[in-house]
Formats: sequence, C-alpha cells, structure tokens
Amino acid sequence: MFIKYWRENMTRTMIVNLEENKISKISGFVEKVRDTRYMVFIILKDITGKIQISIDKEKDANLVPDALKLIAGSVISVSGKMALNPNVKAGGKEFLPEALEILSLAEPSPIDGETNIDNRMNYRWIDLRSEKNTLIFQIGTVVEMAMREFSTQQNLIEIHTPKISGQSTEGGAEVFEVKYYDKKAYLTQSPQLYKQMAVASGFEKVFEIGPCYRAEKSFTARHATEFFAYDVEMGYIDSHHDVMDFEEELLKYVMKRVKDTYGEKIKEVFGVDIVVPEKMPRIKFADIMQILKDKYNQPIKDDLETETERMVCDYAKKEFGSEFVFITDYPTVSRAFYSMKAEDEKYTKSFDLLFKDGEITSGAQREHRPEVLKAQIAEKGINPDNMEDYIAFFKYGCPPHGGFAIGIARLLAKMLNLPSIKEASFLFRGPNRLNP
Ligand code: ATP
Repeated sequence: MFIKYWRENMTRTMIVNLEENKISKISGFVEKVRDTRYMVFIILKDITGKIQISIDKEKDANLVPDALKLIAGSVISVSGKMALNPNVKAGGKEFLPEALEILSLAEPSPIDGETNIDNRMNYRWIDLRSEKNTLIFQIGTVVEMAMREFSTQQNLIEIHTPKISGQSTEGGAEVFEVKYYDKKAYLTQSPQLYKQMAVASGFEKVFEIGPCYRAEKSFTARHATEFFAYDVEMGYIDSHHDVMDFEEELLKYVMKRVKDTYGEKIKEVFGVDIVVPEKMPRIKFADIMQILKDKYNQPIKDDLETETERMVCDYAKKEFGSEFVFITDYPTVSRAFYSMKAEDEKYTKSFDLLFKDGEITSGAQREHRPEVLKAQIAEKGINPDNMEDYIAFFKYGCPPHGGFAIGIARLLAKMLNLPSIKEASFLFRGPNRLNP
C-alpha cells in the first residue's frame, strides 16, 4: 500500500510506505521506550502506523544518549533503513537508525487509557492522539465529504449563513447573547431562517455545514451547546416526503462511502458493522404512539422522549430490520411555528429521523404563505412584529419548500456506537465546558 501524503518524498517517508533497505527518514510521536541490556527499542507512530526502532547500544552508541532522554509523547525524526525481522512482534519489521533528531521533548502525560472522559477533555490534544480517537475524525472527514459530494452532485448550492444575528428569532431562552459594539446580538441556533431565505432567493436547493449554538442546560450524551450540522433546504417540493426521499438517498451515499473507506477498520477498532441502509421505514407519529401503547405499554403523548425514541428504534429493528426510521406528521403543538400544518391541522408535515437509538434529524415542509405564517407565529405566543424580517422573506414570492438538519457529531457517535457526543466532537462545548 502506498499512501500519498503532502511532503512525502521531499524529506519524509510515512511509516506505511517504508521499503526494505531503502534509506529513509521517518518522523512521529514516541509511543514507548524500552531500555534493555544491549538494545534500546522505541515505538514510533505517525498517522499511518507504528514501527519499532531498534538501537544497538554498541553499534549505534552515538544515538543512545538522546534515545534515553525520550519519554512517550516526544516527537523525533529518525533516518535509517527498514528491515524485515520475523522476531519483531508488531508487523515483523524494524527500523535500523543512523541518525536521530529530537524535535520536541515531552513531559510525562497527565492522562492515560484509564482516565475518564472529563479529565481527558482537559488534555484533549493528547487524548486525540490515540488511534481510535484519530480514526473518529478521519471517518468524520469522509462523512462530511460524502455529504458535500452528494449535495453538489444533486446541484445544491453551498451557503454560509451568519452565526451572529440581530434577532433571536427561533426561540427565547436557549439563545446565547453576545455584545455587538453597543448593541445586543445573538448566536444563531441553526441556519433555519437564512436557508429558507436562500430558497426565496431562487437558489432552489441549498445546503450548509456549519455551527449551531444552543444555550440549553442539557447534560446528556447527545447535547452540546455548540455543534456542527448539515442543513438542507429545497424548493418546489410536494410534501415533506420529497425531503425524506432526499435524506434517505443522502444517508445511503454517506454510509456506503464510510463503509467502502473505513468499514474494515471500524469493525476492528469499534466492533461495529456499518450497514448501508436499503429502505428507511416511515411511520406516522399517531401510529407509532398506538404501537408504543400496545407493544410497550406507554401512554400517548405529544412528542417522543429519549426513552420512547429507544423503543421506536427497537421496534423498527425488529419489524423492518432497519437501523433508521422516519417518524412523520408530528403534532402541531410539539413543532416549531414554521412547520406547515397537514390537512388535519392537529398535525404538521414534519418528520424526525431516528438512527440506532435516537434522533439525528428534524425536518419538515415549511409554511411559505406569509399570512398563514403570521397566524402560526401568533399561535405559538410569539409577537409577529418581532418576526417581520423573517416574514418578509416570503412576501415577494417564494416557492413551497422544506428541509432538515443532521447533527454531525450525533450521527458519528451513533454510527460508531460511542458513549457520548463528546467523543465525536473535536472540542466539546457544554454548560460546564468552555476550555481548552
Ligand atoms: P433534541 O430533541 O435532541 O434536543 P432538537 O429537536 O432540538 O433535538 P433540532 O433543533 O431539530 O433538534 O436540530 C436538528 C438536529 O441537530 C438534531 O436532530 C440533532 O442531530 C442536532 N442537534 C440538535 N440539538 C443538538 C445539541 N444540543 N447538540 C448536538 N446536536 C444537536
């Protein structure tokens, strides 16, 4: 296997690309140093793999003083040759050095494999060095690339909407206020209103991958105060089912990309089989409530909760053999003012997508008729006068439209069966976590 890396062949060879007996220079983190009677062994790791550097105390005497200064976490460059040696446990290869340069001498690491997640987060940069943690972000890269690839293949336009806004349009309490010169501004909870604006701009179908801010005091395994989402809005739909059709195809594409690129590795490191979905079942909210009552002894409610979402996923797995399930047509009382109502106005043309054990997406057809929208805003107890900027998007002509959002860390965490969204966030932000 030859993996091309930037700068490779100039001065540095990646460990995976080492060839027997060829003079090369490798660089990376020291993972372990073992000092024995005749030899010093260093395990060196770069992003492509690990190799044992074998220093002969007699033959390579000039390298020994530096080698013995090293502790795990130090960064070195070593020139020499790779040799095959069946006695070397890991991979039957070793590196025979001619020169060793210390690029960075580390202090002892304050964390190890036993440290709990909250302490690990204090030293997240060290925590991320593990193969497992690095892999999460390599997979995340494929996920976002596949999302972008699929979206552009479908001729969506990529937009970047502002994250600072003069209005806290989407809802009262869960919004972060920021000082904006001598005014108050707010961090946007999602690109919802602006992506709808893009449809009114005639962009037809748009997507964005960007940050969302929620000032919610949630200490769960699936909530962050800052998270990144893939958002879509598309015009000229007939109903929310068109939006679900798009999401279904998108996720099939993403899961296939992930499986093709990292399927084997994911099985090995996380013990998870990536299943490319075929058909994602769609169940109306009212119907799933009846099923939950009959099969799981649950009372009928207006929304799904963490526990009932789990039951729905369990049902979808048993009944349809599917890890994904759409729940559609949520009650009007539990959806945002911008969701279009169904023919029976108690319900909306909305949906959530559940994956493995809970929600990863909310979506809907939106209300694009300004007068109806105004009435729905008032029904939710919001003063329509405060929403004039938003309502104006629909006054000068706007196609019927709908869209959805997928939280990326949540999708990744579920895909890899991680215990928390924290593990899938490069630097998690929560009510009690603002550093590093
Ligand atoms: P939940 O009910 O789980 O709090 P929500 O209904 O508030 O989520 P939406 O506002 O519809 O979620 O956001 C769309 C998607 O964004 C969610 O399905 C989820 O994947 C992601 N998401 C929402 N809130 C958070 C959060 N606090 N942290 C991480 N991801 C989130």
